[in-house]
Amino acid sequence: MQDLIIVGAGVAGMTASIYASRYKIKHFLFGEKPGGQGLLAGRVENYPGYVAINGPELMQKFGEQVKSYGVKVKQEKVGGLAKIEGGFEITTREKFQAKTLILAMGASYRHLNIPGEDKLAGKGISYCTNCDAPFFKEKTVAVVGGGDSAVAGTVHAASFASKVFIIHRRDEYRAEPAWVEKMRKVEKVEEILSNEVKEIKGREKVEGVVLKNPYQGSSELKVEGVFIEIGQVPSFALAKQLGVELDERNYVKVDPAMATNVPGVYAAGDLAAVQGGILFRQFVTAASDGARAAASVYQYLHQGVVPSPSWGKKNLT
Ligand code: NAP
Repeated sequence: MQDLIIVGAGVAGMTASIYASRYKIKHFLFGEKPGGQGLLAGRVENYPGYVAINGPELMQKFGEQVKSYGVKVKQEKVGGLAKIEGGFEITTREKFQAKTLILAMGASYRHLNIPGEDKLAGKGISYCTNCDAPFFKEKTVAVVGGGDSAVAGTVHAASFASKVFIIHRRDEYRAEPAWVEKMRKVEKVEEILSNEVKEIKGREKVEGVVLKNPYQGSSELKVEGVFIEIGQVPSFALAKQLGVELDERNYVKVDPAMATNVPGVYAAGDLAAVQGGILFRQFVTAASDGARAAASVYQYLHQGVVPSPSWGKKNLT
């Protein structure tokens, strides 16, 4: 039996592993795709220590640091988690046991759930501007959303496309003002605010979008690509199998020590929401979560520290 199993090898899981190694906690790290969502990030300008670095390059450095402690990421799909006597069992093609768990499965792309979306996914619709923008060279595209992914994605898309519309449902962006400023300097970007995409049209591939409110006299906008960058939904399914409590948005509820309601189970990164805190999803916060979770596991294993009595009392703001 291991002391710890970490499920998920993104920023949070890999940081948890680095800290666990330094605490000499015997552990396994599982991750089907080491690097997780970090692999999809474009230029990262706010990870301290790097003025600018690309997501995949940063994740490679995380991986090298994990490996430097002799930990090899097990690239296997985790199919099940269960409570057993004295700990937990995880099922991949085999079964593994550990006294504690850190859940760091992250999140997946949110969909608009509008007509045409399923049919044209991969045929001009993408959920990752940073990955797919180069396929839209000299084309007209639309980016949907108003957060950092959409605004930074718009800047990235504009370095390939001939024209980029950003379509956001409000008149104010959620993204960092630094990104908005950068985007507004790019001439080929056109902002369509307080509007929504109702439908994506096209026979074999994307030919246009239908807007809720007419724009320049028309409800239809001709585009050859649509990037849907409207945030993520937490990957909570495995957590639910353990009876871990989720909040109303399906994030795993954790206390400030990253402890869930199940003793011995911790969560970190995009899957977790610290009760009473703001939801802030950054490389640096995921790394911080992972470090905290590993420190809490160490305390739990050595001092039997359990979640604080105030666990879950406060609501998210
Ligand atoms: P996000 O911050 O949750 O923003 C999602 C955006 O999509 C919001 O503007 C939201 O509109 C919009 N939206 C959500 N559901 C929608 C729907 N059904 N229809 C239309 N619009 C919808 O997600 P994100 O931009 O992917 O960012 C996720 C996290 O990663 C954030 O913490 C972000 O800061 C971080 N990130 C950081 C960087 C960076 O360079 N620092 C880059 C990428 C991501 P409302 O604003 O109206 O809610």
